[in-house]
Amino acid sequence: MPPYRNKKTDKYTMRPHILDHLFASVTTLSGVGPKYAKLLENFCGARLIDLLWHLPSGVIDRRCNTALKYVNKGQIWTGKVRIIEHIVPRTPKQPYRIVAEEADKGLMAEQIILDYFKTFGNSLARQFPVGSHKIISGKIDVFNGALHMAHPEYVVDDGAIEQMPALETIYPLTVGINNKILNKLMHQILANLPSLPEWQDERLIKQRSFPDFKTALQLAHNPQTTDDLLPTAPARMRLAYDELLANQLSLTIVRGRLKKQKGRSLANAGKLKRKLLQALPYDLTAAQKRVLAEIEHDLFSEYRMFRLLQGDVGSGKTVVALLSMLSAVECGAQAAIMAPTEILAQQHAETITELCATIGIKTALLTGHIKGKARQELLADLAAGKIDIVIGTHALFTEDVLFHDLAYVIVDEQHRFGVNQRLNLSQKGHQCDVLVMTATPIPRTLLLTQFGDMTYSQIDELPPGRKPVKTVIVPYGKMAQVINMLDGKLQAGTQAYWVCPLVEESEKSDLSAAITRYEGLRRLFGEDKVGLVHGRMKENEKDAVMTAFKNGQIKLLVATTVIEVGVNVPNATVAIIEHAERFGLAQLHQLRGRIKRGNEAGLCVLMSDASSQIAQMRLQAICNTEDGFMIAEEDLRLRGGGEVLGTKQSGFGHFKVADLDVHSGLLLTASRDAALILQQDPNLHSLRGEALRILLYLFEKDRELMQTYNAG
Ligand code: ADP
Ligand code: MG
Repeated sequence: MPPYRNKKTDKYTMRPHILDHLFASVTTLSGVGPKYAKLLENFCGARLIDLLWHLPSGVIDRRCNTALKYVNKGQIWTGKVRIIEHIVPRTPKQPYRIVAEEADKGLMAEQIILDYFKTFGNSLARQFPVGSHKIISGKIDVFNGALHMAHPEYVVDDGAIEQMPALETIYPLTVGINNKILNKLMHQILANLPSLPEWQDERLIKQRSFPDFKTALQLAHNPQTTDDLLPTAPARMRLAYDELLANQLSLTIVRGRLKKQKGRSLANAGKLKRKLLQALPYDLTAAQKRVLAEIEHDLFSEYRMFRLLQGDVGSGKTVVALLSMLSAVECGAQAAIMAPTEILAQQHAETITELCATIGIKTALLTGHIKGKARQELLADLAAGKIDIVIGTHALFTEDVLFHDLAYVIVDEQHRFGVNQRLNLSQKGHQCDVLVMTATPIPRTLLLTQFGDMTYSQIDELPPGRKPVKTVIVPYGKMAQVINMLDGKLQAGTQAYWVCPLVEESEKSDLSAAITRYEGLRRLFGEDKVGLVHGRMKENEKDAVMTAFKNGQIKLLVATTVIEVGVNVPNATVAIIEHAERFGLAQLHQLRGRIKRGNEAGLCVLMSDASSQIAQMRLQAICNTEDGFMIAEEDLRLRGGGEVLGTKQSGFGHFKVADLDVHSGLLLTASRDAALILQQDPNLHSLRGEALRILLYLFEKDRELMQTYNAG
């Protein structure tokens, strides 16, 4: 889709003028100087539209006038009072007090004391003449049995009630920004909202009783009841749907454009592939064959590939990745595979190098730890094309790494990449094909919103002969039995993992708990039989321990993070996980995948004393199924979207209005809607198409679209 075309300048890069008001700086508002603008900018953004996406969190009803007698501490009370007396403070620390009495309540009238701290008495004496009537509104406090109100939020003269908002919208606030001013600013913005052409389907609007966009914004900022604040209120649903449709449209457009991006064909006769298949000690599963064919179809085509390959732990992604890389090699080009950690890169390198040696292909490992002369030689070989396949960490993409002819990049276990980063990455090579692999099952909602720009393959079958893992929840009171069981297993020659939670690398107490556990287990099972790896160790120390575990010298490996045990040790079939409730379900699932590689059925012990219902349900979900997708859906349901993939920290997957926990149904509709729209009107030229462009600009999808546009 070409970007919006400005009719006056005939340029394609301009945002439509109808949105100018919304994208104007907050400094254009009356009452906002440079200082306040800075505060707003840091808090919610520098433009009017940023303020509009700052939706209210509450509403105060100042209409009610219950008798003071029935009001509780902490409630907002509004009512008419008669001023009785002023109590001037004797020390600066005491408040200035104004004693008042509920008006028009006769014998029912209660007294209330208005407290003013650090306020000059003169102005108060003028504002509250004794005997006068005032209407006040503010929060009630109870102190020594007396009703108080500190600094009433509103004080108006009797008969001037219209000076107080009947319903006051409450916004989330920060230091320096108060609710009254924010309300005033919002009123200014809302009063000047442009009427935008309707971009939503008429039938959908009727069916869901959506207000139009402008009305929806006005309603969202002027809630009448707390129900209007719910994400399911019609105004909020409308705005959420707008956002989701913008998201789905832009991803579908990017995907469509990428698909049409000229690449290079890596079509080949498949000689290397056949050789490797013959050398493999097993046959590919049907799912592996199907996925490999899907990838090859893209590689062979004239267009660039952007594909996501999803497969559960142990489903055999690595060998599929390798087989697909052989296409690049057979065409005389290079391929690179990037892993998220050193250890995983090394493990890939071992597997791949071993297999490649049998068919005469040159591989190399490049990580940040390869330095000096070795690195220089490696870089020279890469640049000269002497290396066919390079395996590494993100060190692969530092600037001094030059390829002779990089045609294909595989990113393993990288789910923290947004659309823009994926586009950048692919620019490293020359018309590079890109495959992103992930073992973390991605629920459909996230797949749609975060990976909607990629086509997608799934290995939905494990290689034959995998035994199920038995998973049990065990309270700490039964530690002795666990140790007993472990002793028996170790005696019988099995290896085991003992995992302690260390969510943040900086959590000192967690680390010391892990070290204490390690020392205890060493005393029990023998000093040389127990090893420890944790995130704070140096890379080479970790490697030494991991190697010893792989070789079987170490029988029991105490580890603090899941990724560190991402190594393939078929003889390890037991895992004990402490404080299992502190792990993400996807993490637990990954971890359990590590003990399924051997001939013996695995045993996974989840140690936990957690009693909360959510914790129980989460752990039970792990015990009930080994289906990574079901676990991911459950995790998403119980914890919310971002955490499944650990994306909350990376700020990825963030919507302004939509909340996937509530609006996932809307997302599915938006996804279908987007596909249909682009099928009927690929260039968004129809009347509705023009309106949809405004929607895309409104949600700032123009940057993504422009980048695709420029790349093509
Ligand atoms: P993933 O990367 O998807 O977690 P791997 O590629 O590491 O899985 O494969 C896990 C194990 O399964 C490896 O030891 C691999 O050699 C083996 N494997 C892969 N494909 C098959 C297959 N079709 N049949 C039997 N074993 C397989
Ligand atoms: Mg793997």
